[in-house]
Amino acid sequence: MDRDTLEVDVLYVGAGAATLTSAISLKRKLKAAGKEATILVLEKGEEVGHHQLSGAVMDLRALRELEPNFDALGFPHDGEVTDDELRFLTKGGSHALRGALLPKPFHNHGNRIVSLYRVVRWLKDLAEKEGVDVYAGFAADSRLEENGRVVGVRMKDMGVDKHGQPKSTFTPGMDVKAKVTVFGEGPRGSLAKKLIAERKLDSGKNPATYGTGFKEIWEVKQGIPGKVIHTAGFPLLEGGQYGGGWIYGLKENKVSIGFVVGLNYGDPRFDPHAAFSRWKTHPFLKAILEGGTLVRYGAKTLPYGGYFAMPKMWGDGFLIVGDSAGFLNSARLKGIHLAMKSGLLAADALYAAIQKEDYSDGTLAEYHRLFEASWAKEELYEVRNFHQCFEGSGFWTGSLRAGLIVLSGGKLLGARRGAHPDHTQIRRLRSGEDGQKASNAAAFDEKLTFDKLKGAYFSGTMHDEDQPAHLKVLDPNICATRCREEYGNPCQRFCPAYVYEWDDTSRQLRINASNCVHCKTCDIADPYQVIDWTVPEGTGGPKYVDM
Ligand code: SF4
Repeated sequence: MDRDTLEVDVLYVGAGAATLTSAISLKRKLKAAGKEATILVLEKGEEVGHHQLSGAVMDLRALRELEPNFDALGFPHDGEVTDDELRFLTKGGSHALRGALLPKPFHNHGNRIVSLYRVVRWLKDLAEKEGVDVYAGFAADSRLEENGRVVGVRMKDMGVDKHGQPKSTFTPGMDVKAKVTVFGEGPRGSLAKKLIAERKLDSGKNPATYGTGFKEIWEVKQGIPGKVIHTAGFPLLEGGQYGGGWIYGLKENKVSIGFVVGLNYGDPRFDPHAAFSRWKTHPFLKAILEGGTLVRYGAKTLPYGGYFAMPKMWGDGFLIVGDSAGFLNSARLKGIHLAMKSGLLAADALYAAIQKEDYSDGTLAEYHRLFEASWAKEELYEVRNFHQCFEGSGFWTGSLRAGLIVLSGGKLLGARRGAHPDHTQIRRLRSGEDGQKASNAAAFDEKLTFDKLKGAYFSGTMHDEDQPAHLKVLDPNICATRCREEYGNPCQRFCPAYVYEWDDTSRQLRINASNCVHCKTCDIADPYQVIDWTVPEGTGGPKYVDM
């Protein structure tokens, strides 16, 4: 098959906060030194920003380093945080911690409330102004290697029907070759996952662990601009899962609400989306949302593992940045500033490599050295055991341990705590448990709460249905036999978009791949690890405008 080949100096896979920041910074450094290099950023979404989802209250530290004049350059935001609190929800009431009682990770005064979609669009414009090429609608399907060195990526073939046969529109995916390839595909990136596993980049590290999160934008009767509320407690205390929620006041009577659950929960009948829905029915949430309208819905995973779970982030011909490398502070529920910092550090390392014309493991290790000396390392190291505190312990014990870590700035409980891969934490069904029913089922009233299909609709998700399913179930027989009996096909519950559905007639699991919002939860949480999330044709997926 004839494939076109494009050659560039530096290739970024994924257009997010980390990669775009890195591309801008690198281009500026090269320009200042009178050097030229071709820099390309590839994005699988139809438009840059469509696959970006975050809370988001943004710490501005890395943004200031990238562009101190960000406000003068029209940095998009929904205002500064003027009021913040942590609210503990009981079944029918709530108690707030504010001011001096508010734990440090929840201090947000001075941070900006943003839409990551708009921030990333702004970064894309800056990058293009600097001369970086940014192409959307191109899904990187596999990595290219020569003599053990990463030399680029192959794009997904377009125009293949659902049986794998070429259609009249068939176009072979192009090969994009680069001196160095930077993977920034978000949490559990499909290429980064294989790269990490095949090269054992996680050897000696804690396993990567994740949370799965939901987000909705609402137009409400009475806005709360500038207010940031994080919640703990209801409805997770009943089942002992780890997680919590947020409510951020946006401009124009809009609020961003969200809810995150650690994927290390045990009950195979637990449904994270049902927990999110039940959370919205709490009187405190109801008072804010009632009478309002849902504007958008989305879901994504968050890399919770922290410092000890970060893989080796460099090698011959490649770097890994942002969520793909675990740049997230799970105590603060913040990752954008760390992702941007990883991009800045990568740019410094790439600049040094370009000067030496050497893209080997030894030269690119500069990225690691810079990280270890940076404030990003300091911040992540302080909470290095935070998430592990909640593994295998209830909310109260976990909170007590995590509180000691936060109060002591990471000095107490400092010895490395281990962790287990999330998919090993789910237990088998117990005798008498109905594996086809959620243990925390929610009712959907179409006013406050909506089923997953309605959610997928509000995510704007679209895929060409006549293409091979991008969710590869490596052994479908396991789904129909062992998984059904032992776990009740938990993918039906942990998927936020109703992709997996048990079909009683065929006695098989049906996969509605076109609903997929690319959150990667199934790839992480499937107890048998037979689900492999791969990229669909470019442009497919959610359209998270303004999320
Ligand atoms: Fe997320 Fe997997 Fe469901 Fe897609 S199929 S929405 S990646 S859980």
